[in-house]
Amino acid sequence: MVKLADRMSLIKPSPTLAITAKAKAMKAEGIDVVGFGAGEPDFDTPDFVKEAAITALREGKTKYTDAPGMPELRDALCAFYKRTEGLDYTRAESIISVGGKHALYNILMALLSPGDEVIIPTPYWVSYPDMTLLAGGTPVFLKTEEKNGFRFTADELDALVTPRTKAVVVNSPSNPSGAVYDVATLKGIAAVAKKRNIIVIWDEIYKDVYYGEGRLRSLPHYDPEVKPLTLICSGLAKNFSMTGWRIGWVLGDKEIVTAMSTIQGQSTSNPVTFAQYGALAALNAGTGHIGPWLAEFRARRDALLAAFERIPGISCLKPEGAFYVFPNISGWYGKKWSGGVIKDSYDATTFLLQEARVAVVPGDPFGAPDNIRLSYALGMDEIQKGIDRMAAAAASLK
Ligand SMILES: *Cc1c(COP(=O)(O)O)cnc(C)c1O
Repeated sequence: MVKLADRMSLIKPSPTLAITAKAKAMKAEGIDVVGFGAGEPDFDTPDFVKEAAITALREGKTKYTDAPGMPELRDALCAFYKRTEGLDYTRAESIISVGGKHALYNILMALLSPGDEVIIPTPYWVSYPDMTLLAGGTPVFLKTEEKNGFRFTADELDALVTPRTKAVVVNSPSNPSGAVYDVATLKGIAAVAKKRNIIVIWDEIYKDVYYGEGRLRSLPHYDPEVKPLTLICSGLAKNFSMTGWRIGWVLGDKEIVTAMSTIQGQSTSNPVTFAQYGALAALNAGTGHIGPWLAEFRARRDALLAAFERIPGISCLKPEGAFYVFPNISGWYGKKWSGGVIKDSYDATTFLLQEARVAVVPGDPFGAPDNIRLSYALGMDEIQKGIDRMAAAAASLK
């Protein structure tokens, strides 16, 4: 048997894949499963973006570009942030990567030496800890409480910083909780970063998917002095429904971005060329298309929240952004169904899949053992069907 690299013992396949595979297998058998698992919007990519990529293909734009992305796309990215945020970045402070995930991974690869710590607030996106480990760093978890809206305070962050702390990851709105940080806390986080000289990895992939008043802004908007320490990380996956295009980016310190570009040049090279042409059209147009999507997402969120009010054993915070609800189902723990006693979020997930034929994701792999995550990237009819099934299953618990 082959001996794999030592680093493979540090990481695991996405634990959410098992449930997705099970749900798929049930569907293949003809069982009608309502899927709340997907972490991607159900809307189609805007036509003008597709057209731009098709035109690029027709015009023969099928060759390598610069490893960190086409110069005109990086310039368009900088112009987009100037227009929407009033922030000044140069081409040398920008990089296009193969999705936001790749951008985050390259940040960590560029930054971390063995023993360097990255502060990751819980509940977290499942990839942050494993990427940190792959890059040789040490994840340090900053535990948040549901009663505090799954948000940490600047003091709690400050208390976890050590001489080995390299960075903190801030994802607002959050996947999985939908939590959004208020301006005062963001200013506090910026103050800690400056005082302790740590990098803020600012994952704003859900910035445009926000249900509150006004709009959310990038961290340096709230404190311009934290800009040199901030790595803005985002992409087109969620706001343009372009998950499969694999276009993400980072804006920030030139030295870090250059290091990321070197990593890219020796690993993936450039993101797909005609996808970059689609991205160019998207960034030049902006996010004007998103209004109707938000209205639809909000109606779905509200339908789920209203249902959770009625279903015994479930309680749920109101998410202010992203397209997930993250209910607490610990009220089911200790209860029995035909498959046994529900002891944890994995059991709750199995119960919902088998008893209700509803696919959700357990909270454990997100660092939240009392919760489950439901994505509402599916039509209202399916959502209603899922709600009815969950209510019936919950009522049958003993
Ligand atoms: C979806 C997502 C990303 C980026 O995804 P890509 O498809 O790689 O662009 C980054 N962070 C979070 C929290 C996400 O949910």
